[in-house]
Amino acid sequence: MTLSTVRRLLVATAIVVLLSGGAWPLEPALADTDQPVAWHLIRTPSPGPTQAIGGYAHGCLAGGIALPLDGIGYQVIRPGRHRYFGHPALLEYLQGLGQRAHRAGLGLINIGDMAQPRGGPMNTGHASHQIGLDVDVWLRLDLPLLPRAHRDDLKEVSVIDGEALRLIPSRWTSAQFTLLRLATEDSRVARIFVNPVIKMELCRQAGSDRAWLRLIRPWYGHDDHFHVRLACPPDSPLCESQAPLPPGDGCDAELASWLPEARPPAKKANPPPPPKPTLPTACTRLNMTSASLPNPNHW
Ligand SMILES: [Zn+2]
Repeated sequence: MTLSTVRRLLVATAIVVLLSGGAWPLEPALADTDQPVAWHLIRTPSPGPTQAIGGYAHGCLAGGIALPLDGIGYQVIRPGRHRYFGHPALLEYLQGLGQRAHRAGLGLINIGDMAQPRGGPMNTGHASHQIGLDVDVWLRLDLPLLPRAHRDDLKEVSVIDGEALRLIPSRWTSAQFTLLRLATEDSRVARIFVNPVIKMELCRQAGSDRAWLRLIRPWYGHDDHFHVRLACPPDSPLCESQAPLPPGDGCDAELASWLPEARPPAKKANPPPPPKPTLPTACTRLNMTSASLPNPNHW
């Protein structure tokens, strides 16, 4: 067989694989190692279409997309962490939220952690954020558009007086209320986590328009940012949905039961971390597909 025949055969095989859907992005076609890599050291998304794989706290992200670091109504904070990747649904969501916030005159929203380029467990900061469908949005709205080099050392600012268990009026204004209301205005939102003190205030301020409050759930911490979680997208059959939310606005006895534990800093009140679940097999393969892994020192 001549060299050109071999080449033609290889090209034909590649076309057949592509047409048959065999170019499954999770196959270790680029594998150059059989050793798993720490997920936070992987600096590039995997090739191929995007899929959220596994659970929010035990999964990974194939074909992650980087959110542009600036856009209408938003800026990405702490870009040096390299956690601004997500499923396209999350990018669309954030760009839409930025535009709604801009139209409402709220000031620039500050986007914190999303997911690592291929998702997976982080070395610091989060148990979830692993499949490209979670994002932290800061509650402070007082930052101007900053040069990227100045965005890594910023401090989150709590809106809660931890001793008094109440909101600090100079930090919690109608703008934060409106931002959270706007954050629920997308059918892809599964849940938004806020500190119980914040949820209590939303319940108090909401008046008769209350359906959106159902999406806002109390959780430890979350006094300087809120955490948006999108539902599993239709293109991600391996994504594991959470149980549906209970009916009602959540402004009930269950919310009140949170308050004694809501004192920030809530670190001590956090429950012990659950045992680390094994990542789905598809994630193991994704991790091995690391031929495009550049030298981390270059970042
Ligand atoms: Zn979060």
